[in-house]
Amino acid sequence: MIIPKKAKTLINIIEDAGYEAFAVGGCVRDFIMHRPCDDIDITTSAKPYEVEKVLIDNQIRFIETGLKHGTVTVLFDNDSFEVTTYRTDGTYNDSRHPENVAFVSDIKEDLSRRDFTINALAYNSDTGFVDLFGGRDDIDKKIIRAVGNPDKRFKEDALRIMRAIRFASVLSFDIEPITKKALFDNKDLLKNISAERIYTELSKLLLGDNVFNVLCEYKEILGVVIPELKPIFNIPQNTKWHIYNVWEHTAKAVEQSPKDLALRYAMLLHDIGKAYTKTTDENGTDHFKGHQKVSADYSDIALKRLKTPNEIFNRVMAVVPIHDMHIGTDRKKIKKWLSKLGEDTLRDLIAVKRSDKLAQNPEMTAQELENLLVTEKELDSIINDGEPFTVKDLAINGYDLISLGYTGKEIGDILMLILDKVISGELDNNKEVILSYLQK
Ligand code: ATP
Ligand code: MG
Repeated sequence: MIIPKKAKTLINIIEDAGYEAFAVGGCVRDFIMHRPCDDIDITTSAKPYEVEKVLIDNQIRFIETGLKHGTVTVLFDNDSFEVTTYRTDGTYNDSRHPENVAFVSDIKEDLSRRDFTINALAYNSDTGFVDLFGGRDDIDKKIIRAVGNPDKRFKEDALRIMRAIRFASVLSFDIEPITKKALFDNKDLLKNISAERIYTELSKLLLGDNVFNVLCEYKEILGVVIPELKPIFNIPQNTKWHIYNVWEHTAKAVEQSPKDLALRYAMLLHDIGKAYTKTTDENGTDHFKGHQKVSADYSDIALKRLKTPNEIFNRVMAVVPIHDMHIGTDRKKIKKWLSKLGEDTLRDLIAVKRSDKLAQNPEMTAQELENLLVTEKELDSIINDGEPFTVKDLAINGYDLISLGYTGKEIGDILMLILDKVISGELDNNKEVILSYLQK
């Protein structure tokens, strides 16, 4: 196996000082699978102060990131590496992070504390692989299997439940049956896990290639971390637009959306309101009138509980309540939408609508998908041509109106009126034209 040159150099430097050192964990898994990996972790027999001494002796910079956990972040030629001393995790409280860790001298103990066999691999070029639990075999077979007794491992740290289904989504692996059973048996322990840790894993899960299958198969686990989803798990939708029930449609819409986290959360949450708004007419057709607003109310609660970063929160909340609005392909109408939502939100809305359609009955959606392409093209051309769609784009501003004698709230109102006329083509966006119109 080939590991990046800098990691190899760093490992050699630690070895030359008389210690063991290996690349370990996710990066070894990713190297074997030829997947890109951003963070290379190194595990070593050297104690943290010994690691620091080696680094100082070799004039390599570092930050004491997690000395308590034995981790030093090494800054090496514009790259950073986490170097962690072999350790076991101390006692666990409430299925959470261990309170204290113990440094050990044998890599076996360090690999045993890791969550899954595919993540319990170590490698360096002198020794080759250290693979005590059949991790390479499981990578070959595309299987996620807990290291040791799965039930015990999930009770120690329930975040591993989310991690298992996250890896199933990202790597498109199956979960080994005994590990799978333990996931479901222990799912409620996820309530003890901090929102931040859940959010990190859930976000990676949502961006995975296998997200549709994982959302369908492991919905009961999702229901523990986002209980707001539970009511839509089993709602049929008898309408010509749909071929899936609400949850399968949701999962499909997530899968069909761009790999952009805000859009993936938007699709995950966009139809929650259907649980509260369903009616069936005399022909047996289901309707979900007003579900978008209800979805938005529950999205707000769910995203806040997950401590979603503002940037993602705001984008999701901008589109969920309007995801069924008709944008149309008319240039003037698109400019009105632009003036109302701004470019970024309008683009998000188009993406949401497309993902939603792609998760509906394909016999019904061809025209609308075509229209969305036209909408997008028109939008691009409005932006490229620099056509005005906000009051800021107008050839006049508030000061011009003050000179004409307008005051207070009038100014904003008139600017909006002028914008309306410019968008609809009644007025040219030209200062003299607008001023002479106003003087009349
Ligand atoms: P990613 O590609 O997302 O970084 P990763 O497997 O590297 O995936 P990290 O969170 O970076 O995941 O953790 C690095 C390694 O630490 C894992 O491969 C695993 O060996 C170990 N690990 C991480 N979290 C846990 C945990 N909760 N329980 C046991 N071992 C863990
Ligand atoms: Mg990692």
